[in-house]
Amino acid sequence: DLGSDVEIDADVAENVDEDDLLGGLKIETTDEIPVPDRLVDQVIGQEHARDVIMKAAKQRRHVMMIGSPGTGKSMLAKAMSELLPREELQDVLVYHNPDDGNRPKVRTVPAGKGDQIVEAHKEEARKRNQMRSFLMWIIIAVVLGYSLIIAQQVLLGILAAGIIYLAFRYGSRGSDAMIPNLIVNNADQKSAPFQDATGAHAGALLGDVRHDPFQSGGMETPSHDRVEPGAIHKSNKGVLFIDEINTLDVRSQQHLMTAIQEGEFSITGQSERSSGAMVQTEPVPTDFIMIAAGNLDAMENMHPALRSRIKGYGYEVYMDDTIQDTPEMRRKYARFVAQEVTNDGRLPHFTEEAVEELILEARRRAGRKGHLTLEFRNLGGLVRVAGDIARGENAELTTRDHVLQAKRRARSIEQQIADQYIERRKDYELSVNDGFVTGRVNGLAVMGEDSGIMLPVMAEVTPSQGPGQVIATGQLKEMAEESVQNVSAIIKKFSNQDLSEMDVHVQFVQTGQQGVDGDSASITVATAVISALEDIPIDQSVAMTGSLSVRGDVLPVGGVTHKIEAAAKAGCSTVIIPAANEQDVMIEDEYKEMVDIIPVSHISEVLDVALEGEPEKDSLVDRLKSITGSALNKGQGV
Ligand code: ADP
Repeated sequence: DLGSDVEIDADVAENVDEDDLLGGLKIETTDEIPVPDRLVDQVIGQEHARDVIMKAAKQRRHVMMIGSPGTGKSMLAKAMSELLPREELQDVLVYHNPDDGNRPKVRTVPAGKGDQIVEAHKEEARKRNQMRSFLMWIIIAVVLGYSLIIAQQVLLGILAAGIIYLAFRYGSRGSDAMIPNLIVNNADQKSAPFQDATGAHAGALLGDVRHDPFQSGGMETPSHDRVEPGAIHKSNKGVLFIDEINTLDVRSQQHLMTAIQEGEFSITGQSERSSGAMVQTEPVPTDFIMIAAGNLDAMENMHPALRSRIKGYGYEVYMDDTIQDTPEMRRKYARFVAQEVTNDGRLPHFTEEAVEELILEARRRAGRKGHLTLEFRNLGGLVRVAGDIARGENAELTTRDHVLQAKRRARSIEQQIADQYIERRKDYELSVNDGFVTGRVNGLAVMGEDSGIMLPVMAEVTPSQGPGQVIATGQLKEMAEESVQNVSAIIKKFSNQDLSEMDVHVQFVQTGQQGVDGDSASITVATAVISALEDIPIDQSVAMTGSLSVRGDVLPVGGVTHKIEAAAKAGCSTVIIPAANEQDVMIEDEYKEMVDIIPVSHISEVLDVALEGEPEKDSLVDRLKSITGSALNKGQGV
């Protein structure tokens, strides 16, 4: 059966509270959660991919897996190797070829036999050498005796003994050449082999023959002894996994195709100028199941023939990035923590609250309502950092506090830059979080994927000499122009002022930051411009994010959770967000008490909250409401 659930009592399972973060699982620590033996049962989510893997294992088909990093592609490939029959495994031996030293012979025997054969050869060689030694010492004794006693020639005797000694030593090398080289040894394999050849160079993938600096004169290593297997040979009867398949050079992709097609592939020296290049073995079996992986990009750039080969003889699967957040799934996430702790072997188990915090984090990282992230590698990283912190404190268990610390420590580069940035601004008192200022709005932006920063915007409006212009600096110029355009359409309707006759200056305070996404700052710019135009101050304890339509509707944006947290950190007490984003808010409890979150659907509501409460403002907001009634009639009162 697919994907074992975490066992809980049936009557409990039926009455699980939807909000229960552990999905009805009653545990004090993750120690109490049993971890399945088979890797395939440890895989969480990816129902489709897991189904395919199990089918492909039975039918011996190749699989192409496309998806985000850390979602379980290599885990599934490894799981597949555990499902393949162990009985079919083989050992591979390479023998000296007396007819042609550069064409070593290859023999395949059942797993475990290889070792025995090599041992037998060694034993024989040992016996032979003993015989030879024995013979040698007798001859030396006789010759020495003869030259010393009969011919009375000491030097001659020693010389003769030396020559005899060397002759025997040299001669005995020949018998070593008879010992075969065991290049694939499956004697101790508990399951079919799994080879990860991601990023492997040609030699590691296709096998190689080492260079021999002494190519003649009796000092050379026999060629069969210099043969080294590649991943395609070591994965015989098992699984060959290659991630980022498109980065494999074309020549290797072609050879890989040959190996798949023929089921065998000779080993030769990979570097042309080495003596190994003269050597080529008989074909070595390469009967592996290929699992190629990558992101969508990989598929476009991989060798088309290789792709069609895999497709023609197998399956293609797309990995999920997120999964529906259900009680059953949350129980599995709790088991995930247990799995990571067990597999690592050194981390203290997690308390119930620590697991709950991790599940909250899986929700936050999903970036999608009602879903959990399936990017488990990152989540596993968080488990390990939290566990390491606990271990560093000699704590018996990993607690929620350790998880929170780990989250702070395991911050992305973007988050670390944002932190520094906030610090630096504090030094220069660039963040303003109280009082009222005309034309200045605390906007919010996202850096990278998961890091919010406060991004103040200042606007000034001056009569223009010629046609009005929008004067903005930096990379956000386009966005500023667009939102001024949108807001000017609205302003035209309620004000005598014609923005097209004005110069509007928009300044993003101290951006200079790479990777700031300004797309969602258009209500910020609009609010700053209206404030400047009407000369009404703005409440600086308010921060905001939202996109703006020509009709004044506030449209949803990305990253609200990170933005709200950034506003709270910067000391703001109110955050305006698009009403459509309300469901995406997953801030940590710590921040909940620090800020009021106000969802809005129209620019008039933004002004209502942000502008200083004066008669001008009320009439302005009223006017705005009246001219854009269409948007407000839907009646989203907040
Ligand atoms: P990929 O190959 O997709 O980049 P991996 O299979 O190497 O990702 O995943 C890295 C680690 O993350 C795994 O070793 C495992 O601990 C964890 N992991 C990834 N996906 C899953 C999953 N679906 N279920 C449980 N654990 C997972």
